[in-house]
Amino acid sequence: MSPHNTNADPPASKPVTLVCVLEQRRYRPGDPAPEGYLAWHEWAEAQHKAGLRQKQCGRCGLWRYPQQLSTEVLRWQGKTARGKTVQQEAPVCSKCAAHPNGKTTDQARDQHGITP
Ligand SMILES: [Zn+2]
Repeated sequence: MSPHNTNADPPASKPVTLVCVLEQRRYRPGDPAPEGYLAWHEWAEAQHKAGLRQKQCGRCGLWRYPQQLSTEVLRWQGKTARGKTVQQEAPVCSKCAAHPNGKTTDQARDQHGITP
């Protein structure tokens, strides 16, 4: 006489819901850059996924997405290490364009490794 042990049923398992709450703001391509390190990286990822690519500002040397660049473009003539004259141009970011007396183009030339 050993009927089925009706106590073998496992206790009703409570559904366990794991919710991973990531406070993530969604940035869209073309959004202005946010303040803050983590926010900036999320924003930059959104820009990159959208196909936007950074360009180096000719004045401050920082890499900027198109929406951070002004319409100003630096143009100058330089020479390569082999003595070949080349036309150089670099965009100017909005911050630099707003402060024209900031850094000089000489600094930009140095960053491009070209001697005038
Ligand atoms: Zn700049």
